[in-house]
Amino acid sequence: MFDKLSISSTTERILTKSLDESITVGEANHLMSLNGSELYPLLATADFLRHQIVGDDVTFINNCNINFTNICTVRCGFCAFGRDADDPDAYILNDSQILGKAERAVANGAREFTLMGGVLPDADIDYYEHLLTILKDAHPDVAIHGFSPTMIRDACFVSGMDVAEGFERLKDAGLDTLPGTAAEILTDRSREIICPEKVSVAEWVDIIKTAQEVGIPGSATIMYGHVETLEERVEHIDIIRQIQQDTGGFTEFIPMTFMHEYSPIFLEGQSNLGATGTQDLKLYAVSRLMLRDLIPNIQVSWVKMGFRFAQVVLTAGANDLGGTLGGDELSEASGAPDGVEASIETLSRMVKDLGRNPIERNSKYTEFYQIE
Ligand code: SF4
Repeated sequence: MFDKLSISSTTERILTKSLDESITVGEANHLMSLNGSELYPLLATADFLRHQIVGDDVTFINNCNINFTNICTVRCGFCAFGRDADDPDAYILNDSQILGKAERAVANGAREFTLMGGVLPDADIDYYEHLLTILKDAHPDVAIHGFSPTMIRDACFVSGMDVAEGFERLKDAGLDTLPGTAAEILTDRSREIICPEKVSVAEWVDIIKTAQEVGIPGSATIMYGHVETLEERVEHIDIIRQIQQDTGGFTEFIPMTFMHEYSPIFLEGQSNLGATGTQDLKLYAVSRLMLRDLIPNIQVSWVKMGFRFAQVVLTAGANDLGGTLGGDELSEASGAPDGVEASIETLSRMVKDLGRNPIERNSKYTEFYQIE
């Protein structure tokens, strides 16, 4: 088909190759910079591969974010959510507030609690274990997707144990999957600018691999559109690809476009932040061509893109819509364009309008539920 389109011989060769095998970093870099008449052949190729690999189902989960604290010692330059402990609007939810939120979510059919928040100064493994225990005691059938590699690193340090032991404790207390956040962009150059206090690239890879070895699978994420180069986006996806080749422990890949408007680095004067629409589309399409069926599930974050653009991104290689969320204070602080809560009906309508099939799933993509 490519010979009928106005594309260069290099682009045609790479897209043709991608129909049968994964592309190299150099080829991905070439595709990441396409524009004009070459953009849509790339998107069509990614959409074709998506259809070949996972078919026409678009999955999502009925879940509930529980942001248990906004106090954070890390204070990333891109984050509008974190607070110092003595800020007037700093909070830590108590057990009854956490259980109340969980109760309401379960009444609405939630299959997963997503436990996210800031990195508390003195939280140890006992603290995170306690959060898991109270939720599992009350709702043993609801999966828990929670915590970040930076939290785990710091909690293990406070508790004087190694990371594997920390994960063993959390797994025994009910941690089902790890969100894979704190990845941001996996190059130390960019991390030094946007999140110098977070885990380094080497630490992130080590902690994720340790979790997967202990038997806690999870998500891989990328947050792009801030200070990184296009080549760093590709470098990041390649690191994820290599980890998956080693471990097979990622359940999904979640590109998260940077919401710059209320971020400290934007407010302090760094301009030209935030990816453009075509950059978003290319990120998804190139991810599909690099990851193929190695990580078959590529998730669109509707909370960051809004419903309309999220629907368009589903035509660029993605096959999952994340979750209903039931709130997400991190995204809310960043200015989520369509709010932070979606009904199953809203997500289903977007999917059906594309001629695809909305399907509810569990956290690990191992159980699927038809939607009436
Ligand atoms: S992104 Fe997470 S770790 Fe960074 S400041 Fe915000 S809450 Fe803290």
